[in-house]
Amino acid sequence: MTRQTLPQIALGATGLTVSRLGLGGFHQLEISSEVVTQVVDAFLEVGGTYIETARGYGNGASEQKLGRALAGRRDRVVLASKSGARDGDGMRRDLESSLKALQTEHIELYFFHGVNTLEELDAITGKGGAMEALLRAQEEGLIRGMGFSSHRPPELYLEAIRRIPLSVILIWDNYLEELYVPEIQQQVYPLARDRGVGITAMKPLADGFLYRSPEPALRYALGSGSDVLICGMNAVEHVYEAAGAIAKGPADADERHAILRDAPELGTYVCRQCGGCSEALRTLFRLEGYVDRQMIDFLPHDPADYALRLRLAHWFDLTGVAQQRFAEAGWDEASLMAEARGVGCPYGIDVARKAKFALAKLRAEQLNTL
Ligand code: SF4
Repeated sequence: MTRQTLPQIALGATGLTVSRLGLGGFHQLEISSEVVTQVVDAFLEVGGTYIETARGYGNGASEQKLGRALAGRRDRVVLASKSGARDGDGMRRDLESSLKALQTEHIELYFFHGVNTLEELDAITGKGGAMEALLRAQEEGLIRGMGFSSHRPPELYLEAIRRIPLSVILIWDNYLEELYVPEIQQQVYPLARDRGVGITAMKPLADGFLYRSPEPALRYALGSGSDVLICGMNAVEHVYEAAGAIAKGPADADERHAILRDAPELGTYVCRQCGGCSEALRTLFRLEGYVDRQMIDFLPHDPADYALRLRLAHWFDLTGVAQQRFAEAGWDEASLMAEARGVGCPYGIDVARKAKFALAKLRAEQLNTL
């Protein structure tokens, strides 16, 4: 197997230079400490230097395993961890627990983890909030900078970047999600760049949905504007495969076009937003993505793929957001359907059928009767 040396990149204005492939901590929960150490060995071997985890991954279990695996060589990597605390006291407690579990005296980047509402952001940035605790930790040298992660629409990232002196964000980025949340690349990334905020991107394989296309998925995401791709590699082979893909560099414009055209996961159902439909129809399909990532298509799939779709379709739980935006749009649905019946989609999508399903999903109707 080819061993590749990973390309490195300056991470925003942090002054840190890190590998473009990052090792994600969540999936270290699924393997023993012994295998975690082997995975870390392989990651260091290919030139990996960015490892991220979270207090919430197994209540510190991921941090403990990574701390053991890094004992004696912690200085070879940039470490990031996260806390779900929104108040200052809770954040301080979590940071101290993270330092202990990771067996280190400092963590380069410490994140506000999974911030999903404006109210949470208010609590973090308000008096006695978690941001005060991390600013103090920064002064004490316990952390170098603050990070922000969420699983909600991009507006929250924009607000967080404006309100918090962040060093880095962690956001999802892959060729499935890009098709219905283009604001990540179009709005979040430019604002982050403008403010010197480093961009780390998670879910390059869309939580495993793109398992049939690991190299195209990684090379596509690598060219979408982030600095570091975080992969949840839980086997040595995964590290070598991911490193090999990253070492080939980002997909160029022609390759990106071909990936979107041929991706088996997109098939004849996921809208590529090619411009062949009106803005209203394309928005309808983006909102459908908010509901179930355009995974529930009522087309035949093999049992394993079908089970994966059912498990992943509602991971982001954005149905409420989609239905609110659908109601606000006030579309003339008869006109939408009339237009859909006349579209000849270059990707082979039956646009009228898809529009019917999308409307039903957004109206919360019983799909199985359609
Ligand atoms: S023609 Fe097909 S890919 Fe293009 S916007 Fe319409 S449904 Fe989407």
